[in-house]
Order: sequence, then C-alpha cells, then structure tokens
Amino acid sequence: MMIFRRSVLIALTVTMGIFALGQAAQAQNTPPATPPAENPLSKYVYPLAPAISSPKVTIDYSDYPQGEEWAKEAKVVVEQWFPAVWQMLATEGVTPPETIRLVFVKEQKAPAQAGGGQISVSGPWITQHPEDLGMMVHELTHLVQKYPGFPGKPGWLVEGIADYTRWWRYEPETPRQKIDPLKNKYTDSYRVTAAFLAFLSNKYDKGIVPKLDKTLRDKTYTDAVFVQITGKDLDTLWNEFAPKPPPASTN
Ligand SMILES: [Zn+2]
Repeated sequence: MMIFRRSVLIALTVTMGIFALGQAAQAQNTPPATPPAENPLSKYVYPLAPAISSPKVTIDYSDYPQGEEWAKEAKVVVEQWFPAVWQMLATEGVTPPETIRLVFVKEQKAPAQAGGGQISVSGPWITQHPEDLGMMVHELTHLVQKYPGFPGKPGWLVEGIADYTRWWRYEPETPRQKIDPLKNKYTDSYRVTAAFLAFLSNKYDKGIVPKLDKTLRDKTYTDAVFVQITGKDLDTLWNEFAPKPPPASTN
C-alpha cells in the first residue's frame, strides 16, 4: 500500500513537473500578443479622445492695441477649438496645458506662430486679413500636437495635420485650393497634405489622422505607417488622389 501510494506521488510529481516545464516552454515560445482584432466598423467612425475643458487663455495686445477686438474674438476661437482639436487627435493620457497665451505683436514675419504654450500673431496681418481666424485653429493644433523631435520626423505631415483640422474640421465650407497633379505632392505640407489626408480619411479609414498623430507622438512614425493603415504605399495613394493626366497627344 505504501509503495503504491509512493508511486502515485512520484507519478503526480513527475506529471506536475512536466506540466510546469510545458508552461515554461510555452511562455518562451509564445509569439508576441497580437492586438485584439479591430472592430470592422471602426474605420467608418472618427475616433474622439476624451473631452477636456479649455485651458485658461490669456491675451496680450499691448504691442498692437488696435488688435484688441480681433484678439478677443481669437480668444473665444481658441477656448472653443482647443478642446475640440484635443479630441480629434490621439491625446488620450496626455496632460493638456494649464494656460495658452495669445500675444499680438506689431512686427513679425509669419502671420502667426506657435510654441511653448504661446501663439504669437502679427498685428498688421490681422488688420489686413480680419477674416483669417481659422489660422488660430492651425496654430492651436500645433500646441495640441507638441510632438517630440526624432530622426525622420515629417514636417510636411505635421503641417498637413494642422491644416486638416483647420480646413476640413473648422471651416470645411471654404473653397478648396486646387490640386495640380503635375506640380503638387503629398510632401507639399499645409493645404495640399490636408486635402490628401481628407481623401484617405474618407476612402480608407476615418481614424487615419489620429492614428498618424499617435505615431508622431510616440516617435514610431515612418512612411510605412501609411501601408499599415491603408495597405498601400504613399506614392500609390497619392496617385489615387491626384492621378497624372495622360501625356498630351502630339497629333
Ligand atoms: Zn504650422
């Protein structure tokens, strides 16, 4: 009886040992976890990051007092659209700034520029172009983006996303810049890239802009990201968007 019990015990120990070994081997050979299959409908939905309230927006027009009214209007645009653009990009888990400063200066080359929690605006520009409040949406997008530097960071895409939020989300009814298939390319930045992104969003994946934004945030962007999202490379996609006309016949 004792012997029988002992052999059962040994058998049990050996079995457990093999089981444990099997588990260890399995842990070693397990391929990296594949992400859960994406909901097939998700490509038809624009994904929004969690909502935030507006950071405090301050205005300083002491250098350009005649810009006061425009500055006050720009403040409202930033208060309303910063949270909106925040939701349109992949900001989940990111902490928004506490304050955004709008500074109006009488001398500045660029109509507006953004950085360090501040948007600096050319006074003469807003006097000549009072309708250009949309440029505030482009600039506040840069404050939302705040991408880290990394080798191969595509400046054209950074500007393209900022113009996408402006021209395709803030003022989609404004007439479009015409794309010239012979001259333009996706790397042209600004409105050309924005129009390309809008085309891809509509044709392939409504979430393409936030997806690209995420890769710029975590420094994993390469042009191959377009292949991962759409199954096609950038040149093929651009040719779908802006096909070159056949060469003119000579006869
Ligand atoms: Zn810009």
